[in-house]
Amino acid sequence: MANIYPKLILDALRNVRYPGTGKDIVEMGFVSDDIHINGMKVSLSLLFDKPNDPFIKSIVKAAETAILTYADPNIEIKGNIEVKAKQAEAPKSTKLLPQVKNIIAISSGKGGVGKSTVSVNLAVSLAKKGYKVGLLDADIFGPSLPKMFNEEEARPLLEPMDGKEYIVPIEKYGVKMLSIGFFVNRDDAVVWRGAMAGNALKQLIADANWGELDYFLIDFPPGTSDIHLTLVQTLAITGAVVVSTPQQVALADARKGINMFTNDKVNVPILGLVENMAWFTPAELPENKYYIFGKDGAKNLAEEMHVPLLGQIPIVQSICEGGDKGLPVALNDNTITGMAFAHLSDNFIESVEKRNAELAPTQIVEVHNK
Ligand code: ADP
Repeated sequence: MANIYPKLILDALRNVRYPGTGKDIVEMGFVSDDIHINGMKVSLSLLFDKPNDPFIKSIVKAAETAILTYADPNIEIKGNIEVKAKQAEAPKSTKLLPQVKNIIAISSGKGGVGKSTVSVNLAVSLAKKGYKVGLLDADIFGPSLPKMFNEEEARPLLEPMDGKEYIVPIEKYGVKMLSIGFFVNRDDAVVWRGAMAGNALKQLIADANWGELDYFLIDFPPGTSDIHLTLVQTLAITGAVVVSTPQQVALADARKGINMFTNDKVNVPILGLVENMAWFTPAELPENKYYIFGKDGAKNLAEEMHVPLLGQIPIVQSICEGGDKGLPVALNDNTITGMAFAHLSDNFIESVEKRNAELAPTQIVEVHNK
């Protein structure tokens, strides 16, 4: 039995040609560097420009055959070839969103904790205070922004500028917004995974006319996916807001979310935690608080992880109804929910300003392109 080493595999793969080009998949850069060899078990990744490349299946099959034919027939390769999309080239040294002062990631470890509700109401509350606000729904798994603004039928227009066409964000309640939900129908959203979703999001950021903004809020998908990494590596994110409920399972995921942003590779500071669904309050008895997901869970996590607690938002029926009707509760300051979001946005502004004061001006415009 031969000794298997990467060059043997690469040489075997040089026998696979990409249809119509006359070139082999190695010289075309389709084979990633990370060829893993463990005894006779070989695994590797093939990188394609387009995730819907029509030749993916046949090339994977041909690659398997080439390895068995030209390297060693005893190699265990079937099922060990992973297909990935090539990283889209990051724009070099051009600053994306040059007219945006603060780019904010709004994230949660877990779905359903109210991340979109908090994003929408924070955006509306900031706009009410006179700030220029943009909101991008990057939650491609479940874009909810069109519904939460009652703009499900809206279709953004294209506008020519400097010889290029730009997407014009939809504007409502003083907030400029875009969502993948404006471009695909709900049932299609689930296939927008990986690089395709990443590229679509980049387009919504770079090919849209956001204009001058004080705050550009990005409602991230839940969890910690490749999309997060693509976004944080492409944009100079000022900081992240993490939303959690006080429940233990949500807190465990929120902790992971915080660590994802603060780890060395990503290095995005946490502006604070928001405890959503902190307690239940019946509208007719606003003094009564029922801690149905536990008391102060996110508050305690914030203390433990030394990040600010930006606000505690109660569970109130009107928040849910406001989301469904496209009338965010933050529009009305005279309600307990409106006040809770007004208070949250005050703390948020303070945290962003504190963060910016800590940075030298040259660092604020730094882009994390790799
Ligand atoms: P996520 O973006 O984390 O998936 P959503 O913002 O879509 O979560 O919220 C999930 C559901 O919970 C929605 O129906 C929303 O209206 C409701 N909801 C969120 N926060 C509250 C709250 N504080 N009080 C009542 N309902 C809420």
